Amino acid sequence: MLEIFYRKLLKQVQGLPDTTANAAVYLLLDTVPLEAQIHMRILGLLGNITRLEVNHPLRALALRQLSVKDKKSASWFMYTQAIAEIYEINLFQIITAPWPKLTWKRFVKNTITEYWQEQLRAEAETKTSLNMWLIRGAGDNIKIWSACCGKTHLVEATITRLRMLTGRYQIQTARAKFNQFEVDTTCPLCKKDPETMTHFLMECESLEQVRCHKLTSLQLQLESHKMRIPDTPYQWSLAILNGGIMVDENNACKSVYADVESACSRYCHYLHRQRDIMLNCIIMESS
Ligand SMILES: [Zn+2]
Repeated sequence: MLEIFYRKLLKQVQGLPDTTANAAVYLLLDTVPLEAQIHMRILGLLGNITRLEVNHPLRALALRQLSVKDKKSASWFMYTQAIAEIYEINLFQIITAPWPKLTWKRFVKNTITEYWQEQLRAEAETKTSLNMWLIRGAGDNIKIWSACCGKTHLVEATITRLRMLTGRYQIQTARAKFNQFEVDTTCPLCKKDPETMTHFLMECESLEQVRCHKLTSLQLQLESHKMRIPDTPYQWSLAILNGGIMVDENNACKSVYADVESACSRYCHYLHRQRDIMLNCIIMESS
């Protein structure tokens, strides 16, 4: 219940709809579910107990219970043991040979985070809504938000891009995929091809004029940073939605990363607004 509330909060904070894949919500913020954070606290507390004097009753109790109790026991120490097993941590060894506080804290945090990031990435890779997202290592995606840190005008553009990246932007193919009723996937602007993300971002003839100068300026920006220019419309759309992938390939510095990230978000938001304007015109003309 608490996890659902926490996840909902993370979605709201990022301006993402409730239907966004759960794994995406955590990965974008480089955070882990509440369950994992509770595990960190419990193992942290266990670490404190292991560092008590050898004869301290609590440490003796921990040692005795872990030695004699079976898994069905309701003992707190057995519950902690079950948690430790998830992360392949041998509690008995830790109690008999305690670790320094900071070393233990860091180990617990890294082990649990790594475990959950792997789980979340594996889950994300099974979601068709995330098929445009190049899901990489832990921490890569936090940069999307950090790039607009302190620039409030970029927040709206970033939200638009994240909706596109997480498959929650309402183009026709996305609507058709998640709608219980039959939806025509044809692009409502040019009426020629299915409205996929690549079609919308790179190919739609109706958006060509407005897209042309934005794309040219984005390309010039990439060239100025000596970055590889994508070869195909699909590669372009992947690069724009994922932003930082173009930077990572070249090990560019933080400021270049922020530049490219914000340029990609602004490009997506600009096309989104133009699409909205055109759709409104079409609706007005037909009414
Ligand atoms: Zn079109």
